[in-house]
Amino acid sequence: MATASRVDLDGNTIRPMTICMIGAGGFIGSHLCEKVLAETPHTVLAVDTINLAAICTPADYNTRPLDTIYSNFIDALPVVKYCSENSKRLIHFSTCEVYGKTIGSFLPKDSPLLKDPAYFLLTEDASPCIFGPIEKQRWSYACAKQLIERLIYAEGAENGLEFTIVRPFNWIGPRMDFIPGIDGPSEGVPRVLACFSNNLLRGEPLKLVDGGHSQRTFVYIKDAIEAVMLMIENPARANGHIFNVGNPHNEVTVRQLAEMMTQVYSKVSGEASLEVPTIDVSSKEFYGEGYDDSDKRIPDMTIINKQLGWNPKTSLWDLLESTLTYQHRTYAQAVKQATSKPVTS
Ligand code: UDP
Repeated sequence: MATASRVDLDGNTIRPMTICMIGAGGFIGSHLCEKVLAETPHTVLAVDTINLAAICTPADYNTRPLDTIYSNFIDALPVVKYCSENSKRLIHFSTCEVYGKTIGSFLPKDSPLLKDPAYFLLTEDASPCIFGPIEKQRWSYACAKQLIERLIYAEGAENGLEFTIVRPFNWIGPRMDFIPGIDGPSEGVPRVLACFSNNLLRGEPLKLVDGGHSQRTFVYIKDAIEAVMLMIENPARANGHIFNVGNPHNEVTVRQLAEMMTQVYSKVSGEASLEVPTIDVSSKEFYGEGYDDSDKRIPDMTIINKQLGWNPKTSLWDLLESTLTYQHRTYAQAVKQATSKPVTS
């Protein structure tokens, strides 16, 4: 229950605040709302409408670049302007996509430099943002997000806006995205957790795009929300900063993720895994023209450690176990009904 005696990281009493949360019904917003309401005395002004839900699924970046740019840049402008003009603090959710590709992705595959963190570690105040050419429309999202970050930063520098920018690194967990044909369009392509969950629920092989060689670090949504709470309640430590929020210890290739999810799903559902659990597909087939990929994403944790003392706790196996338990409990029955053949007389 909410307690009145919360203290910040410096031992000061935290006064109850009113938090306007845009996107409160979404994946991150719903987890954040739950936490704020259950554990703090703060009030949430929850806002969520269809056009506020910014596009953040790669399948849309190259096929709906206009919606991607408008929802992530143009639609965010009034919020930034409002905060700046009315001296309201802004916590803006950006993305690790703003880093784009690593410097190492341009080195030969057998280069010894690939082992040197200087070529892959993504650091808020040092790493460049490296995107592909304009015709690779995948980068429309990263570019829109980068520009809104730069605008917020400039409002801070020129007009004194108090801001914090969050860069989520593959936050995953219950309620993320949708299962195609169940609570989202049957032709829709969500992010990898929901794609693989959908395949597992339907007993189909998991599709590995371009060999599944890309690497990601996954962090459990509940760990990430702890970081956001620290930012909310420690403005003096969080204002003016950009924070990576991820788990550098949970790195896998997409192929390894597929293997692990297959094992975990078999454990939580009690169903045997398929003999051939994965199949290869080309990115053109899966995402269409203009797709491109981030090769590797390991967050540097120096700034968030120093400012907020935050570290993620949950291992990849554990977070997949709780998430796939949720997916199985929530969707298995509905998928079975949707896939069972109608009885013909
Ligand atoms: N991916 C895949 N099979 C799928 C869905 C995604 O191999 O069914 C790959 C995708 O090409 C990318 C990675 O998984 O390399 C992560 O994709 P996601 O959509 O989760 O978002 P991203 O991390 O790229 O923002």
